[in-house]
Amino acid sequence: MLWLTTVKDVAPRPSLIDEHTADVAIIGGGMMGASAALHLAERGISVVLLEKHSVAYGASGRNAGVVAPMFARGDPDDVAARLGKDAGGRLNNFIAGAGDLVFDLVRRHGIDCDAEQTGFLQPAHAKAALPGLEKRFEQWQRHGKKVELLDKVQTEAITGTDKFPGALMDLSGGQINPAKFTYGLIAAAEKAGALVHENTQALNMRRTSRGWRILTPQGNLTAGKVLLATNAMVDGIWPILRKTFLPLTVTQLATKPLDAATARRILPGRQAATDTSGQPFSFRLDAENRLISAAVGIWPFGEKDRLSPGIRRRLAKMLNLDQVPEEELIWEGTAALTSDFLPRLHPLETGLYAAIGCNGRGIAVTTALGPHLAGLLAGDDAALPVDICDMEKVRGYFLAQHGPRLYMPWARFKDFKDTLRDR
Ligand SMILES: Cc1cc2nc3c(=O)[nH]c(=O)nc-3n(C[C@H](O)[C@H](O)[C@H](O)COP(=O)(O)OP(=O)(O)OC[C@H]3O[C@@H](n4cnc5c(N)ncnc54)[C@H](O)[C@@H]3O)c2cc1C
Repeated sequence: MLWLTTVKDVAPRPSLIDEHTADVAIIGGGMMGASAALHLAERGISVVLLEKHSVAYGASGRNAGVVAPMFARGDPDDVAARLGKDAGGRLNNFIAGAGDLVFDLVRRHGIDCDAEQTGFLQPAHAKAALPGLEKRFEQWQRHGKKVELLDKVQTEAITGTDKFPGALMDLSGGQINPAKFTYGLIAAAEKAGALVHENTQALNMRRTSRGWRILTPQGNLTAGKVLLATNAMVDGIWPILRKTFLPLTVTQLATKPLDAATARRILPGRQAATDTSGQPFSFRLDAENRLISAAVGIWPFGEKDRLSPGIRRRLAKMLNLDQVPEEELIWEGTAALTSDFLPRLHPLETGLYAAIGCNGRGIAVTTALGPHLAGLLAGDDAALPVDICDMEKVRGYFLAQHGPRLYMPWARFKDFKDTLRDR
């Protein structure tokens, strides 16, 4: 995983040993757990975070680092229609501000994570996508988001390629090194008083008269309240959660660094981009000018090695590059998709919550949920941006879990048809 190799001089946090107590326990050391721990500690609440592997081992250290504060599917009006005016309005306003919150946290805590609030760009993969982008632009503008609609010429000027007929730019988005960001949040949480234990798997939990007792291999923790921040990495600790979302394995690739002139040609403004195609084409530059892109494979095994040439070919074609630098690193991660592509907050039992399903847009969503989760766990009764709802198992999970992968050939065919019409 590229991003974890860039985290330098960080001593591992000690495993949990012996008996401990805390007001709140957080299980999972990704962005969600880290942001919730930080905001709890800032309220003076004692909080202990347990991470099975190392900080950012999950999706938080494996993603593309694109801060894309929008919905993965659908727009604000769709969300309001689905959830109702009140709940939909809260979620829309929350997402509208989520990008700024990420970059504000970076500034406030001086997090060194190559953060660039240069904008999240969503190029249209074909003319057929332009009306949808116009609708998206108009709806987000109504929610106070700083968005711009770009025509073909403007899009070419900021991507160096003539392949896109237009684009939507969200100026509150941008890019970060996600592992450095997560470590930065953890360091800020520790500074505020949180305790963090790595290599500490929560094996089991049971309610006692003093709260939740969490068993780990070398020690135990009793806490009044617990947040499960395991997202798609959920294991045997609450196995039923696994059946509430569909897993999507994404292969990420980083090339060796581009030369400075080519980097300036393709992304002079250093935006992070994901287009509108059904099999999205994402591209961005990291701090060393490596090109970062991704693909989703159809087969469950050995995808990493098979996908690499295809990802590099797509980069070459879409960005008009004669030569794409060699692969430097390739890795996989699993995202959690919910049926409506919206995040979920579940009460599992008294004092035990799980937040899940950030649908490939999790950097902004999980981080920005942190202050609200802290409020919930501290006992505030303020309205949350995501309403608490009971768990719902995905119908026909056994087959449905393969759905996101099996959808890919159809998505490719549809993308192909859309682009064919433009010729
Ligand atoms: C390949 C990929 C690319 C993506 N790209 C983007 C992107 O560009 N932009 C974007 O916004 N979003 C993206 N996402 C989504 C985003 O990365 C996630 O939504 C986000 O990182 C989720 O953070 P989290 O803290 O909720 O979960 P995670 O980061 O997955 O953390 C969960 C943690 O829980 C730990 N854990 C699990 N069980 C236990 C246990 N029993 N005890 C202790 N610890 C446990 C795991 O080890 C893990 O570290 C991408 C996702 C993937 C997989």
